[in-house]
Formats: sequence, structure tokens, C-alpha cells
Amino acid sequence: MKIERSPFSIAGEEIPPGQRRTVNIAAAKMYNRNELYMDVHVVHGRIQGPTVFLSGAVHGDEINGVEIIRRLLKMKLLNSLRGTLIAVPVVNTFGFVNRTRYLPDRRDLNRFFPGSPKGSLTGQLASIFMEEIVARSTHGIDFHTGANFRSNLPQIRAAISDPAIKEMAMAFGAPVVLDAELRDGSLRKAAYDRKIPLLLFEGGQSMQFDPIPIRVGTQGVVSVLRHLGMLPKAKQKSKCTQPILAKNSTWARASASGIFLPRVKLGEIVEKNQILGLVTDPLGESEHQIISPTSGVIIGQLQSPLVHKGDAVSHVAAISDMDVAETAIDSFQNEFEIESKMQEYEEGHL
Ligand SMILES: [Zn+2]
Repeated sequence: MKIERSPFSIAGEEIPPGQRRTVNIAAAKMYNRNELYMDVHVVHGRIQGPTVFLSGAVHGDEINGVEIIRRLLKMKLLNSLRGTLIAVPVVNTFGFVNRTRYLPDRRDLNRFFPGSPKGSLTGQLASIFMEEIVARSTHGIDFHTGANFRSNLPQIRAAISDPAIKEMAMAFGAPVVLDAELRDGSLRKAAYDRKIPLLLFEGGQSMQFDPIPIRVGTQGVVSVLRHLGMLPKAKQKSKCTQPILAKNSTWARASASGIFLPRVKLGEIVEKNQILGLVTDPLGESEHQIISPTSGVIIGQLQSPLVHKGDAVSHVAAISDMDVAETAIDSFQNEFEIESKMQEYEEGHL
């Protein structure tokens, strides 16, 4: 016998089982008397299950997650959802409108969780997100991109010492899972402290829609929802092999100020001491090498040619087994790059 689910209560609304609705959560009062809202779309399945939140644009200029969530919400598959999905495509509305990472008080929202109702503007928004969204959820996925002219290989950052988080991270199917440290003030740390498994997805660059990270992210959420039993199991097993599990990562930095000429690409496997790039000057009179600090895979890369000495240029995730890593990267490139070209062709872009 099925137990009838209760309606889902949020922002003073009751969403009956089997229905979906957009609600507006008051995020702040502006100085022009206007109220600012955070739009939240809830899909409340007919049958009992976990409650997963998806959050985009915590950093207002990191917009790939906005598109990932938009694509997910269009999927007919959600009609058979068990449990509840809470989608918040734009958490930092201020930053999204102003095309910036920050809030008007010049703070970074992802350093102010869990926040406080009595805190700064940023602290208040963090607190509203914790109470209205995180506290109602059993799991979460937070979407980010590289910042400051840096692009990221699609990757999951998660505290994989927790078995539930590790399983979720592996199920997502991004080519790399990085066991990144929990940073104080981050949403990931605040969720961890509340024992809510949270994945952070990184992919692409700020202020862009990057096709491959968007596709990996969209497919990743579906895979996680299947893993949690919220969607039916896939008929076909994914072609993607196991992700590369990296325990740590290091940024290689510019060895001089000048023009940065990369010699590696995102997703490339590199050896320790391999040349990652050169720094020259506008007259071409000097040339400095940037050397890889470790063997690993390039998970982040500066996209701008202008560097000062010490600027982070290539982010290398350390890997122990190069053969396993090569297989994972090959399978990722085969699946997503070919698929992406097919899609562009179908959409008439080629
Ligand atoms: Zn971010």
C-alpha cells in the first residue's frame, strides 16, 4: 500500500504531491523600496523519496549552472520523479544581474555560509538559503565555473571520505572527482556540518555557456537522481568509465610577468616537470618556462594571455595511476566531444 505524501511547504505555499510550482523567496529589500526575490522551482513527486536541491550562480557570473538547471527542468523524465527536486538556478540575483561574482557589499557569498539573519547583506542571503532550501533537503548539488578568466574541466569536488558523498560523486560521471578540502564559509562546508551530502560541480568559465560542461552537468544530475532512486534506472549503462579520483591539486604559477603561451589543454595528462607553458614579453626577448609541479591531469587553465609573475595558470590534479587516468579522459572525450559535435550539427551550427 502506498502512503500518500504530504504537500511540500515552502515560502508559505503548499505544493501537493505530483505537482510542480515556482515560488519566490524574499531575499532582500533594496534601497529603492523594491523587494528582491530568489526564484525557486519545486517538483514534488507523487511518491516518497529524497529531496535534492540544485543551486546555480552562488557566484553571480558563473552561469553554466543556470543553463544546466533550465535544461533539467524541461525534461519529461521529471514526470516520474520520486521524492522532491528544489531548483534554484540563480542564488545570487544581485551578482547575476550585475554580471559579477560578488554581492553589492562586495562580499563572496560562498565564504559566508551558514550566515545569519543579523549579519551583512551577504550573511543574510546565506542564512535564507540555508533555512529555506538546505534545511528542507536531504542532498544537494551546487554548480560553479572557473573564475577570473580561468576555465575548468568538468569535475566534482566533494568530501569523499564520507561514503554517501563518494557514491554520489562517482555516480555523477564527470571525468574527475577531486577530494577538495572543505573551506570555511562555503556552502559545501555548511551542508557537510548539517550532514547533507553535497557535490560541487565545476565546469567551464564564468559569463559563458560552455556546451560540454553544460552537457556533463545535465547528464550528471540525471545520473545522481537515478543513483538516489528518484528516477528509474537507465536502460543502457553509461559508456563513461570510472572518474579519476584525485586526492589533491596544485596550481602552476607564472614564472615571470608577460604573455602566457599555453602548451597544454584542459584534460591533458602531464608528467612532473613537463613544460605547461611559456611566458614571453611583448618584444619576444625573454622566455620563461612554466613547469608542472606534479604528474596529473589539467583541470583548470587560464584563458587570458596576460600574466603577472605568480598568477595561477594551470591547475593540475595529482593522479597516481596514469593509465587509469588516460582511459577515463579518453572515454570522456569520446563521449562528450563527439556528442557535442552531433548536437551542434543537429542544431544547424555546423
Ligand atoms: Zn564559483
